[in-house]
Amino acid sequence: MSEVLFREAVTRDNTRMKIATIETFDLTCPLDRPFGWSQGWIDQRGTTLVKITTDNGLAGWGEGAESSIINHLLGPLLIGANPMDRAGLWERMFHALYNGNNAVGLAGSALSALDIALWDLAGKAANLPICTLLGGKIRDKVAVYATGLYYTEGEFPDRLLDEARSYVEQGFTGMKTKVGGLSIEEDVARVKALREAIGPDVSLMIDANEGYNATTAIRIGKKLQDVDLVWFEEPVNAQDLEAYLEVKAALPMAIAGGENLRTRYEFKPYLARRAYDIVQPDIMHCGGLTEMARICALANACGIQVNPHVWGSPVMIAATLHLAATLPPCPPARNAQPYLQEPVMEFDRTPSAIRDEVCAVPFDQVDSFVKVPQGAGLGIEVDEEAVRRMS
Ligand code: CA
Repeated sequence: MSEVLFREAVTRDNTRMKIATIETFDLTCPLDRPFGWSQGWIDQRGTTLVKITTDNGLAGWGEGAESSIINHLLGPLLIGANPMDRAGLWERMFHALYNGNNAVGLAGSALSALDIALWDLAGKAANLPICTLLGGKIRDKVAVYATGLYYTEGEFPDRLLDEARSYVEQGFTGMKTKVGGLSIEEDVARVKALREAIGPDVSLMIDANEGYNATTAIRIGKKLQDVDLVWFEEPVNAQDLEAYLEVKAALPMAIAGGENLRTRYEFKPYLARRAYDIVQPDIMHCGGLTEMARICALANACGIQVNPHVWGSPVMIAATLHLAATLPPCPPARNAQPYLQEPVMEFDRTPSAIRDEVCAVPFDQVDSFVKVPQGAGLGIEVDEEAVRRMS
């Protein structure tokens, strides 16, 4: 049989495949050195992976949270279904969570994990990368910035500033640090020292993880207005739309948020009322690839830049890369630039064996860009032995 005929035969067979089994893996890895942000300190990293296997032997991987909801509520709704019917299965899962109101909460992270795995399966069945299934890529590589510069014991100034300089040496054109965990004066000193250490040409962002109310967010924002910050992330409570509007009106730097919201229904008022300059949906919480594509289309129509939130294993990093590859510039631009019109993806550089070991070859950046995987589905090879070891 010719390769083309063989591929058609495989595709025909794949159109009739059914979901046979769903397995979940709760991964943890310890940290040598705990680190902190405004809401706490951690000494280990964790995530949940899901593996969906079909009756014809294909396997798709997803990432999210809440394995008990996957195993007992949403997973059983998918058994026997055709994984190619992604939108229909999304509705089936969402409807199971829908009564009560649209706030799917943590179950949204379970839905996200399953949705990502369905897309991985669909891509493998069609022998196409997910970005092609999404409509085709606009870019082959996605601009990234380094997330690090957390609080650690005895870090300031030397260790913190060395970390920042190391990102510049690695070629990063942007990086993000934390605020909201110390007094305003201490955080201001920290951010000013960072700007001094990295020079004027590298983009610098701050993230309060909802650590302030509108008044205190504006207070620190004004003290930092000469530091040339690209954005101020999650300055206030993620659910406080009015506080976002107040902060956005008072400060010169862009205001970013949205990593904690789920589904287009939660994003809608923030986008429609332009509570953000930059929206940061997280693919493993907001509803997976299916829903994130809808949220991003809404944001683009509202003139709001999408800079995806990324904090997990290579599974969600790959899913985010495929989606980011398809995001139109905001606004449409002939020579679109990162930070101006092009999406810029978060690239977590804090210690994580999960991020580094779930795939044999972890994602890496060159000149502050990460290549979009080319293989079928997510385009990554999950090391199942490493997954089981960390479970
Ligand atoms: Ca954040």
